[in-house]
Amino acid sequence: MSREFAVDMRERHEQAIAEATADREFPLWIDGEARAAESGDTFATRDPAVDVEITTVPRGDAADVDAAVSAARTAFESEWGALDHTDRADRLLAWTDRLREHTDELARLESLDTGKPEAFAAAEIEEGIDYIEYYGHLLHGDTDERIPVGADTHAYNRKEPYGVAGLIVPWNYPVLLTSWKLGPALAAGNTVVLKPAESTPLTSTRLAQLADGILPDGTLNVVHGFGDEAGAALTNHPGVDKLSFTGEDATGELVMSAAAKNITPVTLELGGKSPFVVFPDADLAAAAETAAEGIFYNVGQSCDAFSRTLVHEDVHDAFLDRFVEAAASWTVGDPLEDGTMVGSLASEQQYEKVREYVDIGLASGAELVHGGEGIDGDGWFHEPTIFDGVDNDSRLAQEEVFGPVASVIEFADYEEAIALANDVDYGLASGVATEDVSLAHRAAADIDAGTVWVNDYARFAPGLAFGGFKRSGVGRECGAETLDEYRQNKSVVLNLD
Ligand code: NAD
Repeated sequence: MSREFAVDMRERHEQAIAEATADREFPLWIDGEARAAESGDTFATRDPAVDVEITTVPRGDAADVDAAVSAARTAFESEWGALDHTDRADRLLAWTDRLREHTDELARLESLDTGKPEAFAAAEIEEGIDYIEYYGHLLHGDTDERIPVGADTHAYNRKEPYGVAGLIVPWNYPVLLTSWKLGPALAAGNTVVLKPAESTPLTSTRLAQLADGILPDGTLNVVHGFGDEAGAALTNHPGVDKLSFTGEDATGELVMSAAAKNITPVTLELGGKSPFVVFPDADLAAAAETAAEGIFYNVGQSCDAFSRTLVHEDVHDAFLDRFVEAAASWTVGDPLEDGTMVGSLASEQQYEKVREYVDIGLASGAELVHGGEGIDGDGWFHEPTIFDGVDNDSRLAQEEVFGPVASVIEFADYEEAIALANDVDYGLASGVATEDVSLAHRAAADIDAGTVWVNDYARFAPGLAFGGFKRSGVGRECGAETLDEYRQNKSVVLNLD
């Protein structure tokens, strides 16, 4: 497909890159200061919309992780871990106030680094800041529980931070997913070593720089680098007391094995193959809009994407017409242009992966009913794509594409719908379209997934826990209980007699 973008897109991005990186570096951030990698090595991060280098960042490895863990340990023992709840909350809220003043700058960097529409990046960053704030506020109402053991005994549970938390995040929602971890990890009293994804290092550096003077030095450290270097060094480090990882399930296996060696508790947020079940009584126009948002938002690079659309046979044709119409309204364009709904895929590698799965879909006998092509040009854009008649056992239906590719699968009755919905290794999220409240609750109980959205997609809020069943992960983020993923209980029992 030929390029539909304005000819000045490349020029516009080069100018935006020059402005965003003028007088600014994106170093490692260790012990409250900018550092180069000890090796002196760097690597480039690129704007995928025009395939232009944005800047280079230090290529951290085991030596830098060591320095960061050591700084985090000192900060934990000397300051952050010893602060009382109110002081920690005040610092977190002062930090989020400062972050809010920089939303536009962060959104521009995020858009350039990921290829996502700038307006969407801004909304995600606001949301990320909300989560950090939420955990700050939670501290004010936090109590240690007294247990009524007997009149001669005073017994209570003390919740204590683990110490140094190692956080590893992917590239699809850099600020948002990092905030889901930083909020509870820091609020619980841990200090942090953060390893951002290698393809999106920019905003995490700014999050740490903007904490300067508010969080004590060494509280929030950032080490850029590759998964098998900096990432593996962090997960294997005996000085890390808690790990939290978001990424692919295959990487999650490596993280969990590394954690096992040191008996380090680990939270895993992994992949998904979420079903969106359209029952015959659904409002089909609304369901089609939801199905389209569910797979085309962020070019389908969402762990919770509605990548399988299960449709009752009686409404299949009527739904499909509306789904194709809704898909056409997801306009592909320059991420820096107002009104763009679909930006670039995040990298050439991701683009090639999507192309491969379109070929797999075609070879499987599924019918391509919308899109299906990459878009010629410098960047990594791809059309919103819909396959109909997909076999739930096919690779297209079972494997995470992480791109704008919907698979429509028909079902005949409720039992078949639930069986198909659950017939994947993953269990992160799901959706149901129906006007029948009883049916909605029944399906919500029967679907094996950490989240069930009814007539909705991706409605998140601080306090609503998010996480996966089955191979989609271990533990929950975003909820009040997430604080307890980052702290351990100590039972204190005083004999008063
Ligand atoms: P990835 O697993 O390749 O990388 C994620 C992070 O892990 C990166 O920072 C990477 O450098 C690091 N890493 C890679 N190898 C490592 C190793 N051996 N040891 C330690 N760290 C290592 O995943 P990705 O491609 O960046 O992200 C996409 C995946 O993330 C998808 O599977 C998606 O579903 C999942 N995801 C899940 C959620 C969720 O909340 N469940 C949210 C977003 C994305």
